[in-house]
Amino acid sequence: MNDYLTQFWSKRLHKAQEGLENNNFETYLVEDLVQARETVLNVILPAVNPGLVAWGGSATLSASGITDALRQRKGLKVLDIHDPSLSRDQKQELRRQALLCDLYFTGTNALTESGQLINLDMYGNRVGALAFGPRHVVVLVGRNKLCVDVEEAMLRVKGFVAPANAARLKMKTPCVKTGFCEDCKSPERICNTWTITEKSFPKGRIKVVLVNEELGL
Ligand code: SF4
Repeated sequence: MNDYLTQFWSKRLHKAQEGLENNNFETYLVEDLVQARETVLNVILPAVNPGLVAWGGSATLSASGITDALRQRKGLKVLDIHDPSLSRDQKQELRRQALLCDLYFTGTNALTESGQLINLDMYGNRVGALAFGPRHVVVLVGRNKLCVDVEEAMLRVKGFVAPANAARLKMKTPCVKTGFCEDCKSPERICNTWTITEKSFPKGRIKVVLVNEELGL
């Protein structure tokens, strides 16, 4: 392990945590994805005690093993948008229903040092759930998402996250060919709705788990 890097990021993550707390987010700062999973399953889940959970697309969330654990949890109803047996229309319907769940899980495209979440969405289901609907939201954030301010965060999203995600999702968009955002008009454009989540309202509704590891895009 690169201790100096862990310490470097620890300082920056602590600053972001302060910013998030000032913005009424509930926060947790953990060392790795294993601790993140334990925090979600053993601390947040019992405190919220949800009946119905759902999640948006997130490489970080999938890698954490949290979604698999939720699927297996007795007594918990899961809206599993990633069930491969579902049709496109069925998935879209679940995305709508997920907006009324008790606990929604998502990642974020970027986080500023002053504690704002920056996202750019294709369907709008993730950013919709962040803004309103689910009673509680958990956001898993790897240290690589940390940016100085909103300007840097938006550059990160359009300069890297969106083209890389389009490639991951095998979209037929120009950025997959060139590696750069071409501000396309493609029917498969994944960049449709920006959000800046400045504060959690009500206080504590959005719980941010900061992880001192590089996670997701
Ligand atoms: S706007 Fe189009 S070209 Fe630009 S990143 Fe999004 S999908 Fe790719």
